[in-house]
This record gives sequence, structure tokens and C-alpha cells, in this order.
Amino acid sequence: MYILPDKLQIIERQNNALHQLNEIAAISDISPLETLRKALEIGKEYFGLEFGIVSHIVGEDYTVDVQSSPPDTLFDGQLFELGSTYCKTTLEIDDVLAITDVTKSKYIGHPCHRDFNLVSYIGAPIRVNSKVYGTINFSSAQARHLEYNKIDDEFMKLLSRWAGSFLERQSVLDELSLEKQKFEMIFENNASGTLLIDDSCQILMTNKRFCEIIGFSKSELVGQNAIIYYLDDISYNTAREKILNTDKSSYINMEHQLKRKDGKLIWCKFVGSQIELTKDSTAMIWSILDITAQKEMQEKLEKQATMDYLTELYNRRYFTSRLEEEVLKIKRDKNSTTSLMIFDLDKFKQINDTLGHLTGDFVLKKFADIIKKNLRKTDIAGRVGGEEFAMILPNTDITNASILANRIREEVSNKIITIDKKDINFTVSIGLTALSYDDINSDSAFARADNALYMAKAKGRNRLEQK
Ligand code: GH3
Ligand code: MG
Ligand code: MG
Repeated sequence: MYILPDKLQIIERQNNALHQLNEIAAISDISPLETLRKALEIGKEYFGLEFGIVSHIVGEDYTVDVQSSPPDTLFDGQLFELGSTYCKTTLEIDDVLAITDVTKSKYIGHPCHRDFNLVSYIGAPIRVNSKVYGTINFSSAQARHLEYNKIDDEFMKLLSRWAGSFLERQSVLDELSLEKQKFEMIFENNASGTLLIDDSCQILMTNKRFCEIIGFSKSELVGQNAIIYYLDDISYNTAREKILNTDKSSYINMEHQLKRKDGKLIWCKFVGSQIELTKDSTAMIWSILDITAQKEMQEKLEKQATMDYLTELYNRRYFTSRLEEEVLKIKRDKNSTTSLMIFDLDKFKQINDTLGHLTGDFVLKKFADIIKKNLRKTDIAGRVGGEEFAMILPNTDITNASILANRIREEVSNKIITIDKKDINFTVSIGLTALSYDDINSDSAFARADNALYMAKAKGRNRLEQK
């Protein structure tokens, strides 16, 4: 015998459930899925049934998205065959299906009764983005005391629309979180170091590769000012000025020396562009490559291009270019004096002939050492021929230059080099001149010094002549 409830009572029950649904919908700090679980609890209580399920149906697969059920019966993610559920019928009629007692209905013998012993059921299809998504349903192993009525039907329809809108919201959130995960994965695994820096130079994000380059961990970098990896305030401010003064409508290219956490200095190439983070804040996104090895190789090659390999003084080409610069300087400033001297080892051929070429090389190196020892910071010295050397002495007049020249000459003549128990003694002749306002270029100055050198040789060697 079914008890017919008072209609007022039914309406009051529905009002109460609707009120509860409104309340849970207003809670913003729980996920849409958890809200649905709460809605299932409300529905279970409303219908007086044991199980509440929101299912997702794809083909013949019936997956429990969210459930509310007695302990150890159902779980989220559980998979059933659609054919073994009352929901198959719910989808077929595409409407609310209500079974008060299956044993007294046309559904007697339904697989869901046979396989799961579910006797009472009410369910409705859920649509998400206008497509059938699955069902919301309630069921019990016991027959329901009350016959389902029209108001229950309406409530079920309302619940299914309500569930659909929350599932739509969840799918948007899932998509967003997937996009976020994708972005984070790309940022983190980018093969170049990556930095996101705001307008006040604060590091907002960085990745694995930049941490490897700079030796700081992510937590040591994020939230810090970018000054953390610069050499000092000056290099930081120089970089900052450059960024501030560069047109940000295209990419910015920079090379900076940075300081790793372990104190090691490295060279990095930065390529950056400006992005709008929010409506009123911008940031720079930087790609960073460690170019230390390249820089070292470049420096080595540059050094090789300017150096004489045997003596490690400048080579003739570089020395001449520096002499050219000094000639131009004299033309700009008539009052300054710069001296130029050329050294030529005396009777060097004899050393080679009697002691061999290797010994000759050794002597050349020893002579270069004497030059280096007498070199002042601003002086420029080079090997300009086989056994010929030259020196530029900026801001030095002939008198002072000749003092230095004679000091070198005497040091050479007093030096005894011992090789293979043999003592070698050699001398040098020097031609000295001052760069002149009238010099057309380095050649004319060189020719004058050469002339003076020729005179020194002619007058018996181991001496200084000036022109
Ligand atoms: P002088 O006093 O007139 O300058 O006589 P010198 O023998 O030094 O003059 P000369 O120019 O005839 O000889 C220079 C020699 O320097 C000839 C050459 O074999 C030698 N020489 C040039 N380059 C090198 C080098 O790189 N290594 C060695 N060992 N000898 C060199
Ligand atoms: Mg010579
Ligand atoms: Mg010589």
C-alpha cells in the first residue's frame, strides 16, 4: 500500500530542496564536481533513496563521474556497461524515468534489477552544451514507499539542468587548467633559459635551463630583483638603461656578463620582447643563452689576430694600426709628443748560423721579455719583422724616450743568456723619432725611425740614433 502524501507537504519538501540547492550553488570555494556531489546528497534525501550518481555515457560505457552512496559501494570513475543500467532506458525515452518498485512495473526483469538488485530508480538525461552527456539518477535496493509524482518529475528535470550547467563550468575549468599545464610545461622545458620580469625588474617566472645557467634555484630567483645575477650595481644599471631606452615594439638583443651563484662570471645572450600582462601592466619575456664558451673562443681568436705567437708582443699588422691611430692623435693635438723607436738585433744572422734557429728564437723571446719589462701602461710594443721590434711611447718626448731606449740597449748588452752551457751575449741598435704633425701616415714616421736605425748600424751598432 502506497501512502499518498499531502500535496502541501510535497511542495514544502521541494521548496526545501530547492533552497538547499541554491545555498550550495552560492558556495564559491568548492569545485563544480564537489557541488554536484552535494546536490546528489540533497536529491537522495529528497527522494529517500540510497544511491545518487552523475554519469557520463560514451557509447556503451557508463562512467560514474560523481556519486553519493553508502561506504564501499560505489566510487568516482567506476565503469559499468550502459546496457546493465536503468539509464539506458532513460536515454532511450529521453525523459525522466521513474520506477517506484521494479517488481511491480513493466521493467521487471530489467538487467539492472537482475544484476544489481536495484528496485527503485529515478533518473533524467543531462545535456552539456546541448549534447547528451549522461544521466543524473537516484536508486535504492528497496522499493520506494511513495509513488513518484509530477512534482518529483519536475524536480528531476531541474536537477538535470542544474547538473548540466555545473558540468559545463567544470569542462571550461578543465580546459583552462589543461592549457595552463601545457603552457607551464613548455615554459619549464624550453631549451633556452627563460625569464619573465616585470617593470620594476622583479623576477616573476623562470625555468629549469636558466637555473642551470645561473646556479640559483627557482625559489631563490622568483620574487627577487634581477640585480641578483648582475656583477654589481653599475652593470645592472647599464643593462636597465639599455632596456628602458630601447624601442620595445620589436625584439631586444643584448649580451651581458652575469655572475653565477658560485661567483663565476659568465656571458649570456638575451633576446626579449615586451608583453602585456594585464590591462595596465607590462613585463619582459627573455630567452637566455649561455655564450661564455663562444666569447672565450672569440677573445682567443682576437688575441691570435693581434699577437705575435713567438714573443706575445703585438704583430706588425696590429702595431701599425695603433701607430696609425697615434699619428691621427698628433694631428688633432699639435702640442702632444709621441715617440716611436725601432729595434734591430745586431748580427742576428750569426747567432742563427752558429747556434741554430731554435737558439735564435730563444734569444728573440728573451729580448721581448726585456721590452715587456720596460713597458709602461700606455706604451705599445710589437714585433715588426724577424728580429725587428718597435715601440710607441705616447706623451713622451725624444729626450725621455732616449733615456728609456738606452736603458733597454744597455740591459741587452749586459745580459748573458746561457743555453747548453754556452753563454750568449748580443746587442741591439735603435732608431728613434717623434711623431710629427706633418706625418702623412704611419709609413713616414716608420721610415724616419728606420733611417735613424740605419745610421746606428752604420755608426757601429749597439747604439741609439734619432731623427
Ligand atoms: P744586422 O746587425 O745588420 O742587423 O745583422 P743581422 O744579421 O741581424 O741582419 P740580417 O737582416 O741580415 O739578418 C736577420 C736574420 O734574422 C736573418 C733571419 O734568418 C733571422 N730571422 C728572421 N726571423 C727569424 C725568426 O723568427 N727566428 C730566428 N731564429 N731567426 C730569424
Ligand atoms: Mg733586420
Ligand atoms: Mg739585425
